[in-house]
Amino acid sequence: MVDFGFTLVPSSRINLDLFDKEKYEELVSMEPDVRICMACGSCTAVCTAGKFVHTSLREAMEDIFNAKTDNALESLRACQLCGKCAMVCPRGINTRHLIMSITKVYSKK
Ligand code: SF4
Ligand code: SF4
Repeated sequence: MVDFGFTLVPSSRINLDLFDKEKYEELVSMEPDVRICMACGSCTAVCTAGKFVHTSLREAMEDIFNAKTDNALESLRACQLCGKCAMVCPRGINTRHLIMSITKVYSKK
């Protein structure tokens, strides 16, 4: 790599070196609203399963952007698909459908 005399702070939002664009596009084709998630965390704050075990759609989204898809699946493993998160999402995302789509796309190796 070229030495410019300074370093760039890696983005915490997305790791472009590792991000799997192909799989993300597959996810977008199943749930286009994934593009408007603003990682606000409202879904995680009200999560039914999250009261007992680690469950976080917001973290799963971050993990997908940072190519930690196994972590993303782990963050959603205990989801009960109750739909509570869908009721509070300020972007109106069908979070249950999104969770099922994430699981389907990223479970495939
Ligand atoms: S509540 Fe909606 S916009 Fe906020 S992190 Fe969850 S899915 Fe994304
Ligand atoms: S659908 Fe899953 S992620 Fe959403 S509130 Fe219910 S248990 Fe939590």
